[in-house]
Amino acid sequence: MQGKVAIITGGARGIGEAIAKKLAAAGANLILWDVLEDAATETASRLAGEYGVKCKGVAVDVTDADAVENAVKAAVDEFGCVDVFVNNAGITRDGLLLRMKEEDWDLVLKINLKGTFLCTKAVGRFMCKARKGSIVNIASVVGIMGNAGQANYSASKAGVIGLTKTSAKEFASRGVRVNAVAPGYIRTAMTDKLSEEVRTTMLGFIPLGEFGSPDDVADAVAFLAGDASRYITGQVLKVDGGMVM
Ligand code: NDP
Repeated sequence: MQGKVAIITGGARGIGEAIAKKLAAAGANLILWDVLEDAATETASRLAGEYGVKCKGVAVDVTDADAVENAVKAAVDEFGCVDVFVNNAGITRDGLLLRMKEEDWDLVLKINLKGTFLCTKAVGRFMCKARKGSIVNIASVVGIMGNAGQANYSASKAGVIGLTKTSAKEFASRGVRVNAVAPGYIRTAMTDKLSEEVRTTMLGFIPLGEFGSPDDVADAVAFLAGDASRYITGQVLKVDGGMVM
């Protein structure tokens, strides 16, 4: 990754920040997109200091097509190219399907799926012209197996998997690879909120017997982003302790 340029959406915190650290440690220069400018710039300047790479934080809402297009152009102008793009920004608005509000369905699909489409379109155009690049989409195992209470989220992540495979087929002849990472239960602020009872039940479904860490996801992303995976495209790599086989 030495000297390569990577953009990470939702890169200010959580799994996005762990991915940013992993790529920075491997020598990549970074551009972190997030909705809140302060969060993006604060994380970016911290990582630049810690890892000695160039790192910039930018306010970009992935659902805003113009903002996404302009931010890709600005990245190319300032950094010279984009080698790696990680579609990580995502949200949940959980609830049982029969009670799910239409606005919660729309918002989750808009950020998780349409946002991934808009970013893939904007950066894919540039990468195809450059005849190189690696796009990594963060899906979820619930996009494969479903999950009660997450109709909107699981549908959005299933959509991300379909989008990954189609864009991989469309971009392959231009030397651009597209893969997805599907995390299972990862220790984050989201899973820390679960009750002890729910956590114990969930652990029963995980053969390796523990929740994953943001670092586990970041390791898989770094592999798919870099040249070690040069012959891999259109794949969904599950990082779930063996939960879905
Ligand atoms: P976090 O909520 O910790 O981080 C997501 C980041 O995305 C936040 O910084 C958030 O900003 C940002 N974001 C939200 N909406 C937008 C938008 N419209 N444009 C740009 N950035 C946005 O989530 P996680 O780190 O837990 O999750 C990261 C990814 O991993 C998501 O795609 C999630 O679906 C996926 N995932 C997570 C799992 C887990 O166990 N945590 C399991 C499986 C998949 P802000 O905070 O300002 O809203």
